[in-house]
Amino acid sequence: YQGLAGRSTKEVLQLYAAHGQQMKLQRSSVVTQLHGAIKKRLKQDLKSLHSFALELSKDFQRQSKICLYQVLAAVQRIQLQNEAVRMFQIKAFDLEQSLQEVTERYEKEKQKRKALHNSLVELRGNIRVHCRIRPLLPFDDDAGHSVSQDRQRNFSEKVAYAADDETVLVKCSRPGHASVNKTFQFERVYSDLESQDAVFADVAPLLTSLLDGYNVCIMAYGQTGSGKTYTMLGPQLEGNLAFSLEEESELGIIPRATQEVFRLISEKPPGSYWVEVSVVEVYNNEIFDLLAKDSYGKVFGVKRDVVTTREGKSDVPLLTRETVENASEFLHLVNKGLQLRVTHPTLVHAHSSRSHLVVTLTITTVVYGDNFGTLWEDEQTSQRLNKEASCTFPQKMRDNKSTSSSRASSPVQLEATEKMKQVKTRLQLVDLAGSECVGMSGVTGAALRETSFINRSLSALADVLGAIAEQRAHVPYRNSKLTHLLQDSVGGDAKLLVMLCISPGQKYLTESMQSLGFGTRARQVQRGQVKKKNVPVPSKTK
Ligand code: ADP
Ligand code: MG
Repeated sequence: YQGLAGRSTKEVLQLYAAHGQQMKLQRSSVVTQLHGAIKKRLKQDLKSLHSFALELSKDFQRQSKICLYQVLAAVQRIQLQNEAVRMFQIKAFDLEQSLQEVTERYEKEKQKRKALHNSLVELRGNIRVHCRIRPLLPFDDDAGHSVSQDRQRNFSEKVAYAADDETVLVKCSRPGHASVNKTFQFERVYSDLESQDAVFADVAPLLTSLLDGYNVCIMAYGQTGSGKTYTMLGPQLEGNLAFSLEEESELGIIPRATQEVFRLISEKPPGSYWVEVSVVEVYNNEIFDLLAKDSYGKVFGVKRDVVTTREGKSDVPLLTRETVENASEFLHLVNKGLQLRVTHPTLVHAHSSRSHLVVTLTITTVVYGDNFGTLWEDEQTSQRLNKEASCTFPQKMRDNKSTSSSRASSPVQLEATEKMKQVKTRLQLVDLAGSECVGMSGVTGAALRETSFINRSLSALADVLGAIAEQRAHVPYRNSKLTHLLQDSVGGDAKLLVMLCISPGQKYLTESMQSLGFGTRARQVQRGQVKKKNVPVPSKTK
């Protein structure tokens, strides 16, 4: 500013402008320099950024490629695994199917083998033996007072099993000895889990053959408490020998067989069959007719006798045979008979297992027409049946005949004008007395008599089977009323099924072995082919 002193305004302005110009020039060159530097720097940065981005993208590509490969490999692996799983599944399916085929084939073969065995049994006239092992029950624990705790525990141990549906396995052990397994084969073995249904399913085919003209006998054998009455009748009402009908599924063979017989009859032409029932008890070698009535119609037990007829058959003269038209009528009658077992003074036994019970259903087939005479086995039978025909109509049918004149087309009505033939087949259902060999020592009076009679009758049965097995000329049927009564069934004129009943506990080992021995011997008896009564087919049009 000193230089400006003395200068004119114009000069000052000129100087000032020049100075401004200079400053401007200076500033502009700084800016240019700065701009250049920034640009250079930016370019450099951009370049490095670009190369970094390039690098990054390359890396990314590389990485994604690796990932892609990995994914592809994983997918491939999964596919392979899926394939393997599918192959396994196919294999498993194939195996399952072939297992099923093998099982089916096995079942078929088993059925075939059973059918063949059945035919063999039929041809040889073998006695079929089925064995039922009852479950362990609370009273099996009750070993008595004089036994130590330890032995008591042993007593209720289960020793008899169904190994399969044809084999019984018994673990026999004695103190100080290693236990030995014994097996027994039968036509059928029921485990403790098998129901009354299962047992009856095997009995039902026998009933069909009943209407085809065969006599059938089903007999329960076993010690007291082994389930004979349960199997034959069903669970009993408390303190009462009659059985309960409430529990249908619990019913035993006798009520079920009757239902089945009536069902089979219902499929036949009406009036061509009728059924009569008798209920007999064998006690102390006496036969009691449990359906006999006095003149007031009150039921009471009457002693009867068993005789051999001219044809060599056993017969009980005067035995009460009641005609029944359905299963409930039958059950009512049998229940009445069973009640008598405990109330009648001559039947003093306190326990049902002290006597043999024989329920018999006699089925009469009646056929009308001229052409069937030739169907009978022989002329003699035909003549005999012709003679029987007119006099053995059951009461109910005779009543029917005399009163129902309007029903001219009923078979009974036809009888007057046409020939009529009939044939009888018989279903015997037997609940035997307990097979235990009670020692006679210390037993007196009535109990001694009972025991000795039971022992004698059951050994008579074993003797009869032995005599038949050995084909001896003389079979001692008459040694006991029981064998005399059952002669026709046991001796070959019937399909005979013995239902062995077994208690599974250790406590009963001796008795169970005795029963299994009886069953094994019974099974070996060959009686020759079971005879069929030639039942003609009733014609529906008549
Ligand atoms: P038994 O007539 O041989 O003397 P029971 O038939 O009276 O023997 O059976 C004795 C007891 O065992 C009865 O209380 C009966 O209900 C029961 N019982 C028998 N067998 C069976 C079974 N299979 N299932 C269930 N309980 C049974
Ligand atoms: Mg009984």
